[in-house]
Amino acid sequence: MFIDPHIHMTARTTYDYLIMRESGIVAVIEPAFWLGQPRTNAGSFQDYFSSLVGWERFRSAQFGIAHYCTIGLNPKEANNEALAAEVMELLPLFACKEGVVAIGEIGYDDMTKAEDKCFRAQLELAKELDMVVLIHTPHRNKKAGTSRSMDVAIEHGIDPNKVIIDHNNEETVKEVLDRGFWAAFTIYPHTKMGNARMVEVVRQYGSDRIIVDSSADWGISDPLAVPKTAQLMLDRGICANDVNTVCYQNALTAYSQSGQMKESDWLNPQPIDQRQSFNDNSVLRGQEPIVEAASNYALIE
Ligand SMILES: [Zn+2]
Repeated sequence: MFIDPHIHMTARTTYDYLIMRESGIVAVIEPAFWLGQPRTNAGSFQDYFSSLVGWERFRSAQFGIAHYCTIGLNPKEANNEALAAEVMELLPLFACKEGVVAIGEIGYDDMTKAEDKCFRAQLELAKELDMVVLIHTPHRNKKAGTSRSMDVAIEHGIDPNKVIIDHNNEETVKEVLDRGFWAAFTIYPHTKMGNARMVEVVRQYGSDRIIVDSSADWGISDPLAVPKTAQLMLDRGICANDVNTVCYQNALTAYSQSGQMKESDWLNPQPIDQRQSFNDNSVLRGQEPIVEAASNYALIE
């Protein structure tokens, strides 16, 4: 069983859900992020957040995958200051909805003043609501941006054990682990943090507090990055227990602190019934619906 704790399913297809489930992914976490082009009004954010806790959660369940999300204003769009102020007002309305496991992904993109302001305000919100935090580290100035993100989280009195720092690499991992934060790694196909490098990170640092995810979205990315990396780790001699820890258990331990995510959600799931609809919309296009009988439902390993 695998968890992909960072994947933007809104940008993915139904076929992805099918192959993810077949590959052993039982649960996903979908962080609120940007959509590839900037939004121009707060209503677009409101509908997007609604879809993360509504339609996407339904769609995922229709394919037998438990879906959770994080709610936050991404650093890139924090730079539209007037709009950001409106979005900040929306966040508390969504942060406490069912299936929301963290505030995120928040942090820095270009490390501007506007990003800093929103990052700090959202850390305060997380503290007030006693929530887990997912931090997106910048792709430029990675090392400095990662250190600064942790400094600011500490400054706001956030417990490192409740913070997942994502998009790590070999340069950042040691400091993140030494300071007691969770270190997540995004496996980007062909570039950046590839899965062969991930194997070596686990060989060097072990499995404690390390998390593997795909961050698959609308760009070149792979929704099967977690199971593929797990297989490569096994092929290259990482023990099965460590593979399970970084591709399943650590994400569960970190995000279940929210009280919103439990193993029983997928060990004892509701049987799939594709006759169901969400606001009169179903995932079917004239197909015969899959309807599992509760009695003979067995989890596909
Ligand atoms: Zn993301």
